[in-house]
Amino acid sequence: MATPFLLRVLEEPRYGWAAKPSTREICREWFFRLNIFRSRAAWLPIAGWFWTLCLFPFGVVFLTRYFSWWLMLAGFLYAMVWIGTHGTMYLHRFSTHRAFKVRNGLALLILRNLTPKIVPEEVYVVSHHVHHALSDKAGDPYNATNGFLYCFLAGELHQPIRRDLTEKDYDHVCQLVRHTGMRCNSYEQYQRWGSIAHPARLIAHYLINWAFWYAAFYAMGGHALATALFGWSAMWAVGIRTHNYDLHAFGKDRRQDGVDFDRGSLAVNAIWPGFVAGEWHNNHHLFPQSVRAGFLWWQPDISFTCIRIFRLLGGVTEWRDFKPKFFERHYRPYLAARGNELVPSPQAEGQRQAIGRLANFQRSDERRAMSGADDDLVSERQAQT
Ligand SMILES: [Zn+2]
Ligand SMILES: [Zn+2]
Repeated sequence: MATPFLLRVLEEPRYGWAAKPSTREICREWFFRLNIFRSRAAWLPIAGWFWTLCLFPFGVVFLTRYFSWWLMLAGFLYAMVWIGTHGTMYLHRFSTHRAFKVRNGLALLILRNLTPKIVPEEVYVVSHHVHHALSDKAGDPYNATNGFLYCFLAGELHQPIRRDLTEKDYDHVCQLVRHTGMRCNSYEQYQRWGSIAHPARLIAHYLINWAFWYAAFYAMGGHALATALFGWSAMWAVGIRTHNYDLHAFGKDRRQDGVDFDRGSLAVNAIWPGFVAGEWHNNHHLFPQSVRAGFLWWQPDISFTCIRIFRLLGGVTEWRDFKPKFFERHYRPYLAARGNELVPSPQAEGQRQAIGRLANFQRSDERRAMSGADDDLVSERQAQT
């Protein structure tokens, strides 16, 4: 349920939240938002595209001077699997949903900078809370029912915080992002820049982060590897813009019984984002605060595996896992109901046997999904109680 705060926290486009804008209206609003001569607050939308475009020259240098198919494969896996997984771990599960906690400032510094910086925290986190409150409805910053362009340009059009928040509301916004490691502007600085981040701090952070990763890649494989990985990062930076449009089935209802249990949004458990980043998005909408989203045996969750490794290394102190609740509230009742449907006659004995077979199937399903996780399961269950 949307709270009044989440309803008013984002800057409303001039065409309003309720209307489905035309392509022309979207383009006009986009140029309006990026007009730095109109408002200093345009710096953040401009920065979003600036850093993305800065990645492209690396790709051009790679393709023209260092091209090899092996490095193409390395770049593809790095961008599609690792950067995507890091986005799910850090921006999505940690920064937005607080699905797990890190031990200290060092762990946070590492978690925050595991890849070259591309998406500023405030652009992702604040608007994503609104997305969950208003999924696929008016006010959803990347409402998939409003089309591709509406989502592709959402970072500039629908995700920035509004510029006239009261001091109390601004403080509330800061509480949403302070744990991510970013330093918040004072209220006076916010009034000047229209953002939570100060441009000087953000630029310094990006420069240091990019220099570190370029140097690290260079040490591992020279300019060839560094330009391949940075160049492919540009593909991710562009692709992430329609991430939610894809995950919400392009605004169509493509939810399947027995696969997509959340009926409060159009989110689907799409195979590609699920396999490369553990982003089983329909599951995620069921339990947004869960440290994992892959619940069934055929839903691997690389992000959860990485968080688990980070925990083994001492970086994570606690997490919330809703997998048992998924089985209890959704999967077991579904199987039981299906068992009733499958029984050809109402005779009690036949019905009992059918339900028994399905229960066995479900238990093996659970076993496969939880294999090797017994020790964690104990702590997960403790964490939920
Ligand atoms: Zn969603
Ligand atoms: Zn989410």
